[in-house]
Amino acid sequence: MSSTLLRVGLWVVLVVIVLYVLQQTFEEGPVAEYVATSMLQKALALGVLATAAGVVMRMLEKGTKVVVKNRCAVCRTPIAPGAIYCRAHLRSVLHREEDRTHTSRKRR
Ligand SMILES: [Zn+2]
Repeated sequence: MSSTLLRVGLWVVLVVIVLYVLQQTFEEGPVAEYVATSMLQKALALGVLATAAGVVMRMLEKGTKVVVKNRCAVCRTPIAPGAIYCRAHLRSVLHREEDRTHTSRKRR
């Protein structure tokens, strides 16, 4: 999706530049009348906007990819975003924590 937006945006900008050059070259000809400067400006704004949106989306996509690659701190298994351990290791860590609190309570 982001690559499509980027491509479309860059193509629009490219076409606008070509049209602008054509308009400047044939200032007296029919091309200049056919291609209005205000239209070129609008198209250029659209192209820049699409390119910017594509760049932002690409960054967001990269961000989600990094989150998806989140791995267990012990065995490196891919896990859900925000988690530190996989299911098995989370359980063992919780058990260890529980044991520790239990033994400390017993000592008191
Ligand atoms: Zn694990």
